[in-house]
Amino acid sequence: MAIARPVRVLGLAAVVMWFFFIWQVLKPTSPSTKHKAKEIIKSFERDPNLDPTGEPEGILVHASEEYAPGPAGTARINATLLALVRNEELNDMLSSMRDLERTWNHKFNYPWTFFNDVPFTEEFKKKTSALTKAECRYELIPKEHWEVPSWINMDLYKESTEILKEKKVQYADMISYHQMCRWNSGLFYKHPALANTQYYWRVEPKVHFFCDVDYDVFRYMQDNNKTYGFTINLYDSPDSIPTLWPDTLKFIAEHPEYIHENNAMDWLTDKVRRPDHNKKANGYSTCHFWSNFEIADMSFWRSKPYEDYFNHLDRTGNFFYERWGDAPVHSIGLGLFEDKSRIHWFRDIGYQHIPFFNCPNSPKCKGCVTGRFTDGESFLYREDCRPNWFKFVSQG
Ligand code: GDP
Ligand code: MN
Repeated sequence: MAIARPVRVLGLAAVVMWFFFIWQVLKPTSPSTKHKAKEIIKSFERDPNLDPTGEPEGILVHASEEYAPGPAGTARINATLLALVRNEELNDMLSSMRDLERTWNHKFNYPWTFFNDVPFTEEFKKKTSALTKAECRYELIPKEHWEVPSWINMDLYKESTEILKEKKVQYADMISYHQMCRWNSGLFYKHPALANTQYYWRVEPKVHFFCDVDYDVFRYMQDNNKTYGFTINLYDSPDSIPTLWPDTLKFIAEHPEYIHENNAMDWLTDKVRRPDHNKKANGYSTCHFWSNFEIADMSFWRSKPYEDYFNHLDRTGNFFYERWGDAPVHSIGLGLFEDKSRIHWFRDIGYQHIPFFNCPNSPKCKGCVTGRFTDGESFLYREDCRPNWFKFVSQG
């Protein structure tokens, strides 16, 4: 029996649609962002934060009467707690200070040095100094360190921030944020008030410290030959730094002698874990030490390789035309010009800056969940770059 052609076509269409329907039901579901985040967590085989954490190995100096406030504190070395902060952030600064004084500084009494681009108010000085037995210093940043440099073209800045805004780069059109990043990258350690200071611990308003720390961390740095200490290792927004790595490559082509033989180049250039980031950042993994926490030796920032590197970056104008952060700039400088064995993960210092944590497995910690990286949305797990540091450098 002959079947009319239109009916044959309809029949065929029905069969095709049936197969399409079956395939839709049975095909592997495309992973949601949440699933992707979980996959990444799984690929991180063992989080060292879950292992019991005690004090670090190496030479340690514990609290004693020699750390009493004032001239009696003979055991203190040349170091300061350091905070760049606005008057409006007073309450958040007090909260950070309370945590750090409770867990550490009331035992060691290191001075606090506060920096601001405008004078601190009397209220700021009164309330902060009331929270510590240690000396407090209030410093104004010299204009030539804070002002937008003369070679920045403001029309170009405005046009560039429009592009950055379209790419949803945070703080793109907030000029003070660009100024802050530049100051933290290459200027803070040139402030005259720090001329005789070697080590600093950077503290931001509204951060938390969770664990009792009973040894002098600055002495730890000095006695164990460490340059830089961090708690959290993150990916950066590649759209904020598209030319940072290409400009870095230009610099090291001119100065190959600055590269340390035990550098962390493989950590800086990894493209396995987040290939999209590496591609957008033109060869840089975007992994960086999250610099709102840093315990470091300023001798490194003051060394010729880093000084030349910062000046090279600064002349490009891209602290303004892009939104280069001090975290990737510090991290690339360290990763290239420093011996990676002199960079220390302070796994024992429980820390939070919203939305990320470093929360060790230790009875000395209270108020954070062991091993929890974030209390934000699950997609934030993807921002964790610690597995790369552990893989390429150290779990120590
Ligand atoms: P985020 O952590 O990247 O979101 O940036 P923050 O707003 O926390 O700024 C980083 C640090 O720089 C904090 O310690 C701020 O208090 C400080 N900061 C940022 N902008 C300014 C500014 O214009 N003036 C002063 N004095 N401090 C600033
Ligand atoms: Mn902050």
